[in-house]
Amino acid sequence: MQPNATQEQMNNVLEIIESSGCEPDISKGKFHRLIGIIGAEENVDFAYLDSMPGVLYAQPIQKDVKYPLISRRIGRNNIRNDLKIIIGDDTTQQVVLGNGRPLYIIGPCAVENYEQMEAIAKSLFKIREQDDYGQYAIRGGCFKPRTSPHSFKGLEQEGIEILKKIKGKYGFPIITEPRKESHVDALRDVADIFQIGARNMANQDLLEYAGSTGKPVMVKRGPGYDLDTWLRFSEYVVKRRNGSRDRSNRKIMLCERGENPFGNDSKYLRYPSQMQVVSVLKKQTFLPVIFDPSHSVGSREYVLASCLGAISMGYDGLLIEVHPSPEQAITDARQQITPEHFEQIINSLNTAHKNSHLLLKKQRDEYFRKIGLKYLEQ
Ligand code: PEP
Ligand code: MN
Repeated sequence: MQPNATQEQMNNVLEIIESSGCEPDISKGKFHRLIGIIGAEENVDFAYLDSMPGVLYAQPIQKDVKYPLISRRIGRNNIRNDLKIIIGDDTTQQVVLGNGRPLYIIGPCAVENYEQMEAIAKSLFKIREQDDYGQYAIRGGCFKPRTSPHSFKGLEQEGIEILKKIKGKYGFPIITEPRKESHVDALRDVADIFQIGARNMANQDLLEYAGSTGKPVMVKRGPGYDLDTWLRFSEYVVKRRNGSRDRSNRKIMLCERGENPFGNDSKYLRYPSQMQVVSVLKKQTFLPVIFDPSHSVGSREYVLASCLGAISMGYDGLLIEVHPSPEQAITDARQQITPEHFEQIINSLNTAHKNSHLLLKKQRDEYFRKIGLKYLEQ
């Protein structure tokens, strides 16, 4: 219960528990009263309990669910439907993830100058006008995570000003990466999605802080982390801050980008990926999942194949590094493609999505039904 819950609110909750044939078990802490529910958990409507006045949160305790806040399953018999995330504000064209349309996140590795970003935005604007299926956001890093302290770390404030101008002029939602909490503050006005980079996947303070803005947060999988660990860290985005009732930020997007390769393969593929993980993620969670072919393959000649594969396998969108003159890019020059290249492949990507998305969802729903799970509305 919330610390200031009244006795009347408490009684209403007890009544609901008893009317489900269960027994309440009250523990009094210093600030909170915790009500344990003993009995047949499947008879309890946790979503309803959770919405009752005075309730801080209600959830089933299941030892096998390691990430209850983002788990597809809720209780023994219920599942949550795919999450819808509204991206952007009144200065952007709205994008809705989870509405059955793919999201293409397009832009350079790093923001380098205004002309570079304008060239991309102009091309993407034209592509968007001719496309009634895909949805678009622009990316570009201002605070780049780099392996060496001697490398270019991004334009920082100058880059933010460029992103602001581009967003104002072309109305694309912006996704960009903070490496630390002060970057979240610096990017707050311009970012519509915060990207948590692979190197920061396990930075719990950053995840929590980005989540506290209420904006969508895209969590890239860090190399070497297994799926459970990735999902458990992602829950920091939803974590209730200071015990408050505000648990609004379930707006998490996952992004798969591959692993450190073994041995000789590293000269061919940069971060080869177990792309099939999307099927597992779609079963285990209700979150949208994006694939990043650019960092995964590391060479522009392989980008298209991975894009087609990812969309066909059920990813909800792609993060593709695009640069007007990729060979001259300051960072990740080998893997970026031109806007023209992207324009040539967009129809094929949309077609792949049309061919696979509904079919995969239907098959998933049939599987859930067969094992006795029912959808609860979010
Ligand atoms: C990036 O998106 O430019 C990036 C640095 O990615 P990652 O965190 O996956 O290495
Ligand atoms: Mn990059």
